[in-house]
Amino acid sequence: MSHDVISPVDESVIASIEQVDADGVDAAIERAVRAQSEWASVAPGDRARLLRRAAEAIDAAIEELAQLEVRNSGHTISNARWEAGNVRDVLNYYAGAPERHFGRQIPVAGGVDITFREPIGVVGIIVPWNFPMPIASWGFAPALAAGNAVVLKPAELTPLTAMRIAELCHEAGIPEDVFQVLAGRGSVVGWRFVTHEAVRKICFTGSTEVGKRIMAGCADQVKRVTLELGGKSANIVFADSDLERAAATAPSSVFDNAGQDCCARSRLLVERSVYDRFLELLEPAVKSFRVKDPSADDAEMGPLISAEQREAVASFVPEGAPVAFQGSVPDGPGYWFPPTVLAPIAPGARAVTEEIFGPVLVVVPFDDEADAIRIANDTPYGLSGSIWTRDVGRAFRVARAVETGALSVNSHSSVRYSTPFGGFKQSGLGRELGPDALDGFSEVKNVFIQTGE
Ligand code: NAP
Ligand code: MG
Repeated sequence: MSHDVISPVDESVIASIEQVDADGVDAAIERAVRAQSEWASVAPGDRARLLRRAAEAIDAAIEELAQLEVRNSGHTISNARWEAGNVRDVLNYYAGAPERHFGRQIPVAGGVDITFREPIGVVGIIVPWNFPMPIASWGFAPALAAGNAVVLKPAELTPLTAMRIAELCHEAGIPEDVFQVLAGRGSVVGWRFVTHEAVRKICFTGSTEVGKRIMAGCADQVKRVTLELGGKSANIVFADSDLERAAATAPSSVFDNAGQDCCARSRLLVERSVYDRFLELLEPAVKSFRVKDPSADDAEMGPLISAEQREAVASFVPEGAPVAFQGSVPDGPGYWFPPTVLAPIAPGARAVTEEIFGPVLVVVPFDDEADAIRIANDTPYGLSGSIWTRDVGRAFRVARAVETGALSVNSHSSVRYSTPFGGFKQSGLGRELGPDALDGFSEVKNVFIQTGE
């Protein structure tokens, strides 16, 4: 069965992809099992070299991959170049791992005790449509570095860059059966990863709803699972902060990637004493946010991924919604939705409590530090967040008190390949990236060798 891939920019069909069916998935997993034991026995230095060569191949194809992502996902070209570069960087970073994936020697009586880091086997990686390239690489690069084989399912809407990345990796020398990209439906390909006994770990990124089903499915075989799920992160602006900078950067912290970002700071919490002043500063920043053809170098936001997603986002802004101000969108085809700020809004409103995954920001005033922390934590999610203040003590106090996995102070960064990323509460389970990611792609084996009588 084939599936049309649609460009969200102009709604044209840009490719038709053959979908892998259930038998095809089983055959791919069997090939992966055979390939994995050979891959694990490749000398550490050689495995490292192959990962570096894959990084070089990606580097040489950054422009091609970026253009493909602009067409398939509607990402701005500047974002898409960063995303392809991130794949290269993640591969390079974990290329250092095969030779440094140490065990330990532990003092014991009567002998020698050593631990080994063994590969898990075949790892199934399930990727969402919002960041097809980086999220794929956060799974496959450390998984391969640790000696696993990978079967990866891209989202049905956005399979093109992952398929091209796999080709590039194969051309660089990573064996085809060690890294397979299987385009197909979540309920067929993704779910078979969960139920197939030879897949020993699932790395899932996507909605909290599907993530819970994956976790329950994994329980049956005590399958390892890492989950990166939704978010409803807070951008907390204290009265003592650099208000101009905080206002100038707030739009990109939520409207970047058209708000389809699990780390989007979609709740703006502003200290009551500067609330009016802050909204005055925010309005021009939102209205001048450049929503346009994402292939333009200066585009800051493109369309949403699909008509369905646009409908879902629009449901949070019904007739009569408290729209404080709104940006603009181009005319013509494409799944556009304008940057939208809702304020004042009731604390229990759907737009305040649910993840929107679109360019819609709610603004909520707070009274003091304790109130800000209370509101920030009043959500089942816990992925990221930002804190704006000039008071160093407060920055640390609030950063420690907010229950999320990735916070930034006086900025909006959440993802660096060299630092851990993941969520508290219902935003996820486990951590990706950073120095410890390989722990999630290996099993610790302890071996005792008796040396005395
Ligand atoms: P989704 O519907 O949960 O889908 C994610 C992936 O799972 C897709 O590849 C999908 O395949 C697959 N899938 C769907 N049903 C499945 C099933 N029953 N068994 C196995 N796989 C299945 O999420 P989405 O709509 O693509 O992405 C948006 C969500 O992802 C948001 O909630 C967002 O917050 C979250 N997200 C989180 C992070 C993070 O790092 N925490 C990052 C990005 C996105 P199809 O191709 O069939 O759709
Ligand atoms: Mg979905």
